[in-house]
Amino acid sequence: MSVSRLFVEADLAAGIEAPLKEAQVHYLRHVMRRPDGAPLLLFNGRDGEWRATLAGRGKKAAVAEVGDCTRAQAAEPDVWLCFAPVKRARIDYIAEKATELGVSVLQPVLTRHTAVERVNVERLRANAIEAAEQTERLSVPEVRAPVDLARLLAQWPEGRRLLMCDETGGGPPIAEALASLDAAARAAPWAVVVGPEGGFAEEELAAFRRIRDVMAVGLGPRILRADTAALAALACWQALVGDWRQPTPRLPTDYRTSKVTV
Ligand code: SAM
Repeated sequence: MSVSRLFVEADLAAGIEAPLKEAQVHYLRHVMRRPDGAPLLLFNGRDGEWRATLAGRGKKAAVAEVGDCTRAQAAEPDVWLCFAPVKRARIDYIAEKATELGVSVLQPVLTRHTAVERVNVERLRANAIEAAEQTERLSVPEVRAPVDLARLLAQWPEGRRLLMCDETGGGPPIAEALASLDAAARAAPWAVVVGPEGGFAEEELAAFRRIRDVMAVGLGPRILRADTAALAALACWQALVGDWRQPTPRLPTDYRTSKVTV
């Protein structure tokens, strides 16, 4: 039986009962057809990952009876993705893939040429949670409400490096730029920023250049869609600066399945 992995809000410790949301119980009982005793893996972004078992409580409710800890909470790269919202299917795709690529924050940014004004933050957060469960992260990225680019840059956090994808040729190739970083720059908090379908406006490119820790980079000779650019830049960043530089942890082969016969 494959083990369902769930994000929960509750603190996690051996022997406690973690409440499950109605939608989680519905998914476990009616989609995955899990009986009492079914194995679960829980994480909450603070206490690491824990083995648990499903336990019914009354007619419809259920809890997770928490057992032992499988993985301690570990530091993860601090890289934001600041992106101009695109149309529904593709913004959901950005949320899912950027979560798999390890972002800590998803920040929709309204720019002069942004074609989409309204962003359903709750839906993006649900996509991010589902992706974090599947990708076996120990955290879920924070999904923030859209912010105007000028305001974001006016409040840019001191010390956070800004990797700005500039399709107008305003920077060196991304691999060359990231490969030249010193250890302090690699260890700094970062943000990857991509523009909308219509690209950044002139005054926006000028505003980026006023940020002390900005690094404008190119993503090759072709114009990439905003979602492609965001994920390509994040992949380069993880490979050259982030946690793709560490070997993939070796997990026991039965980690994802449980020998529990219920
Ligand atoms: N102005 C063009 C347009 O209207 O199609 C480009 C916009 S592009 C679709 C959206 C964003 O992706 C750009 O603002 C930039 O951040 C990023 N991007 C796309 N291709 C890129 C490239 N070759 N180099 C750097 N960034 C790129």
